[in-house]
Amino acid sequence: MTYRQNSLQYKVQIAKKDENMQIYVDFDDCLCETARYFSRLAVEMFGKKVPYEEIIFFELDKTFGLNEEQYEQFMIRGHQPEVLLSYEETPGASSVINELISCGHEVSIITGRPFSAFEPSRRWLDNHGLQKANLYCLNKYGRDSFLKNSEFNLELEDYYKMHFDFAVEDSSRAFRFFDHLPDLRVLVFDRPWNRECEFPNENYTRCFDWENIRSIIKKYTGESI
Ligand SMILES: [Mg+2]
Repeated sequence: MTYRQNSLQYKVQIAKKDENMQIYVDFDDCLCETARYFSRLAVEMFGKKVPYEEIIFFELDKTFGLNEEQYEQFMIRGHQPEVLLSYEETPGASSVINELISCGHEVSIITGRPFSAFEPSRRWLDNHGLQKANLYCLNKYGRDSFLKNSEFNLELEDYYKMHFDFAVEDSSRAFRFFDHLPDLRVLVFDRPWNRECEFPNENYTRCFDWENIRSIIKKYTGESI
């Protein structure tokens, strides 16, 4: 057995012993199809046509060629409660998350959305059967936050006290929030804007859909979820 297999075997044993895992899941473009909505909205508001597959930058102002004022209008529209509630679920997200919760794991949705979006975001989760998933708004993007002067309900110092075993995230700009957890397995949800990014270490794995995420976690824990 190689060192790598040995160490993987060891991690599987640890995970089996520690049955209640803590799982971090990002909201936009992990749970729901936010970028597809913005692609349609850019046509409607500014006549800018960039199909989903061509959204190669995480920064939407860069992707759609928007000036500061346009970007602000764009973000305000995209964060209106009725819009947040309308985002389509990424196929399989709620059923896989509910399976994980039913196996005793704790799932926390850690979003970079501002706290002003908390209530409709909570409602979206509830409408999609995710009442048992926690929800926190964390300032992931600093001064480049989606809406200016936003507030968040999870302070950085409190976030760093949390422990996670798995994370599902699509933005390479959020990877820095995983640096303090050397054993964390990061499942990068495949999106056009993260295809060129380099993964910081071998704990990162690209995932193509929720079925893929389900099977990786299942293999890792040895559970029949
Ligand atoms: Mg995201």
